[in-house]
This record gives sequence, structure tokens and C-alpha cells, in this order.
Amino acid sequence: MPTKSKSPKAKKPSSKSVKYVYSFGNGKADGNGKMKSLLGGKGANLAEMTRIRLPVPSGFTISTEVCTYFYDHNRTYPPALEKQIDEAIHKLEASMGKKFGDATNPLLVAVRSGARDSMPGMMDTILNLGLNDRTVRALAERSRNERFAYDCYRRFLQMYGDVVMGVQKRTGEEHEPFEVVIEELKKELFPNDPHVSDTKLDATALRTLTDRFRKLIRERTGKDFPEDPREQLRGAVGAVFGSWNNERAIIYRRKYNIPHEWGTAVNVQAMVFGNTGNDSGSGVSFTRDPATGEKVLYGEFLLNAQGEDVVAGVRTPEPVLQLKVEMPEVYRQLQDVRHTLESHFHDMQDFEFTVEQGRLFMLQTRNGKRTGFAAVRIAVEMVKEKLIKPDDAVRRIPADSLSQLLAPVFDSNARKTTQVIARGLPAGPGAASGKIYFSANEAESAAQRGEKVLLVRIETSPEDIRGMLAAEGILTARGGVSSHAALVARQMGKVCVCGASELQIDYSTNSLHVRGQNFRKGDYLSIDGTTGEIFPGEVKTSPSDIVRVLIDKDLTPAESPIYRVFAQLMQWADQRRKLEVRANADQPDQVGHAVAFGAQGVGLCRTEHMFFEGDRIDHVREMILAENADERGKALAKLLPAQRSDFAGIFKALKGLPATIRFLDPPLHEFIPHDEASQRDLAEKLGISADRVARRVKELHEFNPMLGHRGCRLGIVYPEISEMQARAVFEAAAEVQASGIKVRPEIMIPLVGFPKELELQIALVHQVAQKVQKERNIKLSYLVGTMIEIPRACVVADEIAKSAQFFSFGTNDLTQTTLGMSRDDAGSFLPRYQEEEIVRQNPFAVLDQGGVGKLMETAVKLGRSTRKDIKLGICGEHGGEPDSVKFCHRLGLAYVSCSPFRLPVARLAAAQAALKE
Ligand code: ADP
Ligand code: MG
Ligand code: MG
Repeated sequence: MPTKSKSPKAKKPSSKSVKYVYSFGNGKADGNGKMKSLLGGKGANLAEMTRIRLPVPSGFTISTEVCTYFYDHNRTYPPALEKQIDEAIHKLEASMGKKFGDATNPLLVAVRSGARDSMPGMMDTILNLGLNDRTVRALAERSRNERFAYDCYRRFLQMYGDVVMGVQKRTGEEHEPFEVVIEELKKELFPNDPHVSDTKLDATALRTLTDRFRKLIRERTGKDFPEDPREQLRGAVGAVFGSWNNERAIIYRRKYNIPHEWGTAVNVQAMVFGNTGNDSGSGVSFTRDPATGEKVLYGEFLLNAQGEDVVAGVRTPEPVLQLKVEMPEVYRQLQDVRHTLESHFHDMQDFEFTVEQGRLFMLQTRNGKRTGFAAVRIAVEMVKEKLIKPDDAVRRIPADSLSQLLAPVFDSNARKTTQVIARGLPAGPGAASGKIYFSANEAESAAQRGEKVLLVRIETSPEDIRGMLAAEGILTARGGVSSHAALVARQMGKVCVCGASELQIDYSTNSLHVRGQNFRKGDYLSIDGTTGEIFPGEVKTSPSDIVRVLIDKDLTPAESPIYRVFAQLMQWADQRRKLEVRANADQPDQVGHAVAFGAQGVGLCRTEHMFFEGDRIDHVREMILAENADERGKALAKLLPAQRSDFAGIFKALKGLPATIRFLDPPLHEFIPHDEASQRDLAEKLGISADRVARRVKELHEFNPMLGHRGCRLGIVYPEISEMQARAVFEAAAEVQASGIKVRPEIMIPLVGFPKELELQIALVHQVAQKVQKERNIKLSYLVGTMIEIPRACVVADEIAKSAQFFSFGTNDLTQTTLGMSRDDAGSFLPRYQEEEIVRQNPFAVLDQGGVGKLMETAVKLGRSTRKDIKLGICGEHGGEPDSVKFCHRLGLAYVSCSPFRLPVARLAAAQAALKE
């Protein structure tokens, strides 16, 4: 991949003076926790943990600047680097009292990648570096444990061979070549039990394995495995930098918007050994439960293992709480560490550790990834514990994660009628039902066909990312709660059940066997990522706690802890935000929900959505088929009462909050039948000839309806439609106001590009308003404004503001018209555009700030130049997307409007924007 052109700000330091290598160890460190962009997250926190005197093995970090240099200079290093590494190695040797390559007391190191943001499992780490045929004997002698020494050596050969020398699966090969060698040896040694665990291989067996591994490397690469530790180190460092640009790392960065030019750091650190026997082991833990947020030490531990075994999910580890019994002293140390970490970092930590002969060593810490549930609970509880302030709580929770709290769970009745077929570990909460697929590719294509998909794997690996993204839920047979599947699912907010060891998954037949039942590709399964249960078939889902408290009202706040922390967070957010939030809602019950979710009004009521109910559609069709204004008037008169009663319902539900009502927008052909049979039906109903219907349908046909006769163009050509709609609004307003409820209609004219379009429509609205006020002898207050959704409107916004009392940015159409890109057709090329980074994100989901945003800025400025206090809002899909909400805040809009279920997200994002000021 070509490197990025450098930003003009990138400094060009004279490489002599630059510090590239940062040492840490024995309570001292060159770096610290704030230096994440230079040292990567892992390196910065290793330095920080060293400083606060946690037991961290000594080592050094090679900075991300070296990675940048590496890619900018054709994969070479700055000249000053080598000497700095030499010095750091000497320091490390002195600190450990061991020497690289020494025949009696060799230093072994881990070479670990570490980007600024953690990218779990995306890049490569190499352990036990420094071993060769000589040093392995020294290790065996000093440890008096030959088995351990050769276990380290074979792991090293395996990792080095794979990562540095490229000994990997070739196309057509089922298994990793090193695994094949292991399986072969097991078959020779244990012909009756070829699937024995690795721990059954003794020293001699492991030694044989190292010989065969070296042979394999030679055969596959034509090169010998390098004996010289310094050469090994060079190779490993290069491989870590190289892994920054492997395919899965690139996909990951794209998904999480991590710039390619950040680069990774490399950490070189003295090894500690979790594989010396049963008083050793490796673990991954969280200072609180990352699924629920409960304040307990949570995680897992593998006895007699090096850390990769835990993360890779090949052996299923035991819960870390088990250490309380097995290694009480280590358990006590872990509890201490947990408190030290939280009181120092003020956040939930995800940490990796190794126990070597009863002694605890810290290998990594970072802010833990967590579910939306856990994010909210932890933040709110940490405020109560005085670890953080409410501002921090608001700032810290990814606004999008709130949508998880509103997601459905399995319906408790539906659940009773089905039998749990197996259980796994609850790793990503929520309920998911879908057709099962056993490969990421198939899952992805099924999802593209519109199927609901569960990805079922023995275990997942970073290659599966695309399939995981596409799936509703992820189910694995192996791996624990910190396996790859679990980590990634939690981050994506996907439902996940992992380590369901009873599942027998057979990739070759695409089937799954469990307790006497068989499921094949395409069959339905359901999984509950909150409990770990697996059900056959499709299980009905039911609303979340939040929805039950706020909308269904069959649960009280007292009964729902998660509702209570949610409500607390929302209160803090509301106290801080300046943007108002409104909802896009078309019906009285939807408006009710929106108000329950915190809407301060309706930002977009699409009147045409009301046209499809009951026999209204017939009146609509009659209106469309009318041959003259008179006939059209008669049909419209039949529609009037229906529209009026809907508006009245909305005004009542709003109890005095404002409602932006958009006049008819879509092209008329959307309302009429296109096939012959339904045309005949309609003709009969209306008492006209089928020919006439067919002819009118033909007349209405448009080549490009999105840019056709729609929006205010309808009201211009058929003023009687706008008149009817205005009358319905004002009569409803009069009626509701007379009953003692305040009413604040804001009539919005869509798709305006020319000031005159708006003037004509506004004049008409005022006329009707006047008539209705006189007829009903009532005074109504209302606004008339326009939706800004055409580039022309943005650039003549000063003209438009002469008559418009408000602007509401319709960013769906504004994006389509600005980009000249149809939202409904963009699917065929947008993915490629994202891959090529022509656009970073889908502009229909995340506002294109550099283009559409610029036009909005212009419209805001021009609009205000004419009308200082013009009311400004946004009602496109973007109104519920956090980054876009923050942009709207910066533009100084008065409100954002989004679908009711996105409101909590918008409220939190708006508060975050306000705190950023
Ligand atoms: P990742 O970023 O993929 O988590 P790490 O660099 O953290 O990769 O390494 C993976 C695992 O290797 C760690 O969880 C740890 O158990 C083990 N490991 C890393 N460094 C050391 C070390 N110095 N001594 C022993 N084990 C280590
Ligand atoms: Mg790690
Ligand atoms: Mg529009």
C-alpha cells in the first residue's frame, strides 16, 4: 500500500537529535501514559504502570515515528535508530542481569506491537525471542525444566516462522503448517488419542518438534531460521511494523476510523514465563464486568500457559475468581492491582498479566472495551464512587452505544415455549435470531441478500471481521469471554455467545450438531448474549427495560437498575446540552414515544405517511386521477377530515411542544398502482374506466422521480393540495387550542430552490390561516419555513430567509443533490469508494461535513444575515448520528431531529458537543 502524502505540519526532525527509543523498568520510565501517539497505547501504559510501581518486566518502546519513517522511506529505518536500540538493550540486560544470546543466562524478550488505539489481535506479537539451539539449553539448565525450555522454543519458532518468515497456510491448505506438524507428531506418539492436549507433550517430544519446525522453515522459505538474537530482533521489529499494513489491520482501521498514518510502536520487553508449571499461568482480566458493568474482578486465567493461548481462544480458560482457591496470594495481589489501576486511571481497565512461579507481572493495561450497558453503569457508578465527575461520565460513553440499551431482548413467553439446546458464555448482550452460516463470506453475502444472519464458528479470528460485521449475532464453540469473538462483538455492539463447547461444528458439511439435534446452513437459531443461552429456531423478541419503563409502562424504575442508571445519565446530558432534540414522527402514538424518549417537539412530520391508512389511499388516488381542479377539490375534501384528525392527535400528544409539519413531498406516482389488475380494481372503485387510470399512470411516469415533480413543485402546480393541508393543520390547531392545549405548528415547504417558490406557498398558507382564524374566531400562532435540501437553496439562503421563518436542513436530499448521488443506488459503488478512501464513511449515514456541511454553513450564515434570529434545525437521518450532531452543535443550530429510538443517542452526543467547547 502506498504511504500517505505527509501533512504539511509533519515535522522533519534531523534524525540525529530525535529520541526513538524509550526505556522502562525498575520504577523508572522515559515515557508516560500521556504519550500514546508516540509510544502507542501499550507502550505508554507500560511506562505509566512502571512509574506507579506495578510489577512490569523491563523493556523499551520504539516509537511510532519510526513506523512512519519506515513507510515513508521504502521500509528502511532512521540511521540513528540502531545505536539507540543498542543502548536500550544494554540497559535492559543490566536491569535483568541477563545477556542477549548468552550461553549460560540468556535474555529472552517479547516483541509486541502497539498502536495508539488498541486493535485487538490485528497485529503480531512474538514471544521468547532470543532462543536458539544454544540458549535453549541454558534456559533448560537454569530453570531445571527442560520441558518448559523446549515449550518456549517451539512457540518461538512457530511465531517467528509464521510472522517473520511467512510460513503460513498456502491456498488450498486447510490448516496452519506448524499445526500440521504438531498433529503428526501427536499421531505418532499417541496413536490411540491423537487429540491429546499440548501439555501432554514432554521435553523430548517438544525437542523433536523444534527440529521439525526448523526443517519446515527451511523447506518452505529456503532459508535457515536465524540463530543470532540480534538478527532475530531485527526481523521481528520489521515484521511488527510490516503488520501495520496487513489486510486485517487495514479493514479494522477502516471500520474504526483509525488513520493509516498513525503507525504502530514496537515494544521489546523481557519475558516472564507463565508456562513453567502449575504455579504459573497467564490471564486477562477487567477491573469490572465488561458485559454488565458490575463491580467485580472479571476475567480468566490459564494455568501453565503463555498469554497467547488465552487470547487466541484455543484452550478455554477458567474464571479468574477461581484463583481465590488455587492461588490465594496471587488473587490478593490481583485485587490490589485492580484498585490501584482504577484509582490511577479513573476508568475500567482491561489488563493482561502473567504469573511466574507465584509472582504476578503486569503486561498490559488499557481502558476496557465494554458493552453499552456496562458503559452506562460503570460511568454512573464511578461518579457515585467519586472516581470521576458527571462531566467525565457524559464525555466518556460513546453516544452510539446507548442504542444497545434500547435493543430488544427475547420475549419471556416465547422463550418459555422453547428449549435451551446449549449454553455458552454471555459475551455480548442482547437477543439475536437469524439463519446460521459457518463462514464469514457466506454470512456476508446472505446479509447482503437481506437475510438476518448468525455467524457460527468454532472460534473466530481477525479474518472473520467482515462476517461478524454483517451478522446479527455471533456464536462460537471455543474461546472465553476475552477471546477474539467476544472482544470484537462487544466493541461492535453485536450479540455474542462464545465457548459453547457442546456444539460440534463441521465446516466440511456446513452443519452443527448438538445434543442429538442437527442444524444446517440456513436454519434458524437464536442466541441470548446476556445469559449465554442458545435456542433452536426463531424466538420472538420483546422490548428492553428502557422501552418497558418509558413506553410500555409495564415495568417501574424501581424494578430496573439499568433504567435508573440510564435515567441518571440522561439527566446529566440534558443539563449540559445546548441543542434541543426533536423527533421525526408521523403519528400520534409515535409522537408519544418520542416525548417519552425526551423529544422537545416534532422536527419532521411527513404528512404523506398518513395517506396510506385505511381507505384514505383511495381518496388520495382519486385526487391524483382527477382531470381538473374541481374534481381534485372534491377528492381533497374527503382527505381533509383524516388529515385534520391526525394533526389534532399529534398536537395533543405534544402538549404544547412545537411540531414541524412538512407538506406533501413525494412524486404522485408513488401512490398509484402500477400493475394492471390493481389498476382495474381502482377504476371500478372510482367508477372510471381502466384506460383512464392507465393513461394517467403513464402521464405521471418520470425518468428520475427524485428530481421530478415532487416537493413544493406539487403545491405550485396543484395549489389546492397545499390549501387542503394548510386547512387541516389550522383547523386541528384551532380545535386543540380550544380544548386548552397550546399548539405550535411550524409549516414546512419542501424542496425549495427558488425564493419565489416559497413566497407563493407561504402566501397561500397565510390566506388559509386567516380564513380559519376568522371562521373559528380564534387566534393561532404558527411559523412557516422551508426545508433546505437543494444546493441552490443554500446559496440563496439570504433571499429565502426573507420569507422563511425557519430552515430545517433535510440532509438526506441535500446529500443526494449535493453529491449528485442517489441514496438508493449508491450501494453498488459506495463500498468500493470506502475501500479506496474516496469517502471515509457512508455520507448518507454520517454527514459529509466537508461538502454538504460547507453548504449548510453557507446557508446558516446567509440566512442569519437576513433574519438574525432565524430558527435552524436538521431533520435528516444524520440528526441521530453522533458526529453529525456534534457538527450541528458547532454550526449553532437550535435543534436536531431524529427517529424516536435515536433520541437518547442524540441527547448524549449533544451534551458531549457542549462539553467540548
Ligand atoms: P496483543 O496486542 O495482541 O494483546 P500483546 O503484545 O499484548 O499482543 O501480547 C499477547 C500476549 O503475549 C500477552 O497477553 C501476554 O500474555 C503475552 N506476552 C506479551 N509480552 C510478554 C512478556 N514480556 N512476557 C510474557 N508474556 C508476554
Ligand atoms: Mg495484549
Ligand atoms: Mg427531502
